[in-house]
Amino acid sequence: MSRMTETTSQAPQLEQARELLQHIFGYADFRPPQDQIIGHLINGGDALVLMPTGGGKSLCYQIPAMVRQGTGIVISPLIALMQDQVDGLRQFGVRAAFLNSALDPVEANGVEQQLLQGELDLLYVAPERLLMPRMLNLLQQSRIALFAIDEAHCVSQWGHDFRPEYIQLSQLHEQFPTIPRVALTATADTPTRREIVERLALQEAGEFIAGFDRPNIRYQITENDGNAKERLLRFIQDEHPTDAGIVYCLSRKRVDEVAGWLQSRNIKALPYHAGMNNQTRQQHQERFLREDSVVIVATIAFGMGIDKPDVRFVAHLNLPKSVEAYYQETGRAGRDGQPANAWMIYGLQDVITLRQMQASSEADENHKRVERHKLDAMLALCEITSCRRQALLGYFDDPLEQPCGNCDTCLQTPETWDATVAAQKALSCVHRTGQRFGVNYLIDVLLGKENERITQFGHHRVSTHGIGSDLNASEWRTIYRQLIAHGLLAVDLEGFGGLRLTQASRSVLRGETQLMLRKARKMKAKSRRKSRHDAHISDTDRNLWDALRKLRLELAEAQGVPAYVIFHDATLMEMVEKHPQNNQQLAMISGVGERKLEAYGEAFLRCLQAPAIRSSDTVEETAQHLERGLDLESIAKERNLSLATIYNHLAIAIEEQRLSLKKAIPIQQDQLRIIHFAFEQYGTDGKLKPVYDALDGEYDYGILRCIQVALGQETPD
Ligand code: ADP
Ligand code: ZN
Repeated sequence: MSRMTETTSQAPQLEQARELLQHIFGYADFRPPQDQIIGHLINGGDALVLMPTGGGKSLCYQIPAMVRQGTGIVISPLIALMQDQVDGLRQFGVRAAFLNSALDPVEANGVEQQLLQGELDLLYVAPERLLMPRMLNLLQQSRIALFAIDEAHCVSQWGHDFRPEYIQLSQLHEQFPTIPRVALTATADTPTRREIVERLALQEAGEFIAGFDRPNIRYQITENDGNAKERLLRFIQDEHPTDAGIVYCLSRKRVDEVAGWLQSRNIKALPYHAGMNNQTRQQHQERFLREDSVVIVATIAFGMGIDKPDVRFVAHLNLPKSVEAYYQETGRAGRDGQPANAWMIYGLQDVITLRQMQASSEADENHKRVERHKLDAMLALCEITSCRRQALLGYFDDPLEQPCGNCDTCLQTPETWDATVAAQKALSCVHRTGQRFGVNYLIDVLLGKENERITQFGHHRVSTHGIGSDLNASEWRTIYRQLIAHGLLAVDLEGFGGLRLTQASRSVLRGETQLMLRKARKMKAKSRRKSRHDAHISDTDRNLWDALRKLRLELAEAQGVPAYVIFHDATLMEMVEKHPQNNQQLAMISGVGERKLEAYGEAFLRCLQAPAIRSSDTVEETAQHLERGLDLESIAKERNLSLATIYNHLAIAIEEQRLSLKKAIPIQQDQLRIIHFAFEQYGTDGKLKPVYDALDGEYDYGILRCIQVALGQETPD
C-alpha cells in the first residue's frame, strides 16, 4: 500500500536514478514507493517518508543526493553509527563523509574542504553540530542537494526518543528555503506524524506512507511456564545456531544473568545496558555489528538506529509496554528482507507486573488512560487466537485481508475452550477471600489445600475451597493470566499482587457472558516448522554458504568494517542459489554493484568455483580435529563454522566410510537403541522430522542425520 498526495512528472532524471540503483547499488528495481519519493525529491519537492524498518529509506535520499547537483546533508542522531553508514556507502563507491565530535580538528577540516569543493555526494552530520554558526556558514557557501532528516520522530516531545536539538531543525526551512528537505521515520502513529509536520514545517511536503507489514518476520508469542531461559536457549539452538540476534530483558540485572547463562551454554552472548561502563558497552555493540553470530542481550534502549541488516531474530523475555514498542523492537530483525523471527515469551508475572506499574503510575488521568489503552492492546495481541499479523497491522490501521500464514497462530491454530465455569470459580474465589490475595494463594484455595495460612484466615471453610480440583495449578495460572489480561481482574496498587474484581467481571460471574479462553499449548505438540533463513539449502550448499560467509568476514576484518558492509546475507544467499561462474553472472546478483564487483568479484568467484574441492577438504579437516580429541562444539568454534555444518561433515565422512558412527557421535548404547527404534517406525530414508518429533526434539538433527547415514549402510536382513 502506498499513498501519495502529489504526483510529479518523472522525467529523464528518474532514468538516471534507476541507473545509479543498478550500477552503483546493484539492485534491479526500486521498491515502491521509493521511485515516487526519489522522483519527487529530484524535482525539488519536500517529503515526509514513513516506511517500516528495512523498507529501504536510505536510498530515498541517497540517490536524489547523487542525481541533484551538490551534496546531500544527512542529519542523524546517532554519532556512533555514522562511521558504519559512511563505510557502507564508500564500499559502493559513493563519496560520503561525516562530521561529528569523533573527528579531530584536522580531519574535520579536511571534510569541510571536500564539502566546499563539491567533492561529496553525502555528508552525515549530528543535529547539534548542524546548527552551529560555523556549520551554517559553511553550508551557505556550499552547494547543497538536499537535507535528509533521519529518525525524524526524534522531534516528537511525546515520543521516547526525543532530542531537543531536533526542534531547531525548523531553521533549515528558514535559512535554505529552496533546498528540498525529506524527513524519514519508521515510527508510525498519527500524532507523531502530525508533530513532525508541524515542527519541521513540512506542511507543503508530499507524504509517502508505505504499508507497515514486514512479511519476512515470523511473529511468535509463547507462554512462559517457568522455564523462559531454557526455552530461549532451545529456540536459539534450533533456529539460529550461527545467527546474530537481540534478546530484550526488562532489567539490567536480568540482562547480566541471561547473558551469562547463555555464555555458559556456548552461545556468543554479550550484555548491553546503561549500567555498564561506556567502553565495554561500546565494545559489545561493535562486536555485534562486526562479527557474525553475536547475540546481544539488552534492555530496550539498545537498537535504535542500528542498521545491521542481518539480525535474524529478536527475542523478548519481557512484555513490551505497547504494541508500538513491540513493533519497533521486533522490527530490528530482518531488515534485509530475509526470513527472521520475532519470538516472545510471556506469562502471568509479566501481566501482573505491567498492570501494577501502570496502576501506580504518577501520570495524570489522561495520560494514564492512554497507557492503559496501550497495554490492553499489547495484552490482547498476546492472548489473541487469530492471526497476530492481522492484529498488529490492524492496530496501525493498515488492514491485512487474509491471515498471514507466517505467525504462530497461523501455523498452529491455538485451541480454545469454554472457560465460563472455570472463570466463575476463579473469580468467585477472589470474591470469597476478600479481594486481597495473589494468584498462588487463590490457586491453593481452589485446589483445596489446608496449609497454615489458609486455615489462619479461615479460608478452608469458604465455598470455593477445593472447587477447582478438576484442573491443576498450572492450568489455573493460565486462566488467571488471561482473566487479568482481559481486564476481568485488576491488580492491587500496593504491589503485593492482590487481585480484585472489576466492573467487567460481574457479568461473567452472573453468567451473562460466555468466556472462551486459550488452552495452554502443550510443549509436545509443538510445531517445529522452522523459519531459518538458511533452512532450505542443501548440505553441499551449506558448505558453500559457510565458505562465503567466512570470506566475507576476512575481507571485512581486513578493512575494519562490519561484514554486512561487504555483502548482505541476501546477496550471499543468492550466490549460493545461482552459482555465478563469471563476472557477468556475478554482476546480476542483487547487491553486487560495479565497485564491489571490481573489489571482491575475483575472491568470491574463486570461492564459488571450488565448492566441491572445498567440501572434501573441509570434511577431512573436521575429521582430523575429531581424531585429535576435540569435541564437536570446540571444532565448530575453532573453525568458525556452525555445529550443523560440523554434523554435516561427519555425515559425509560416515557415508564415505572414513569415519565410524561411534567415533563421530559419543552416544550411549541405550540411547542409540531408542533412536534406532524411532527410525524403524518412520523409515531410514525419509525425512528426519517425524523421527525428531517422535524423540521429542531430544536429539539434534545433525546427530539424527549421522545415525540415519550409518543405518543406511548396514545391510538389511
Ligand atoms: P530502512 O532505513 O528503511 O530501515 P535501509 O535503507 O537500511 O532500510 O534498507 C534496508 C535494506 O534493503 C538494505 O539492505 C538495502 O540495501 C535494501 N534495499 C533498499 N532498497 C532496495 C531495492 N530497491 N532493492 C533491493 N534491496 C533494497
Ligand atoms: Zn498470521
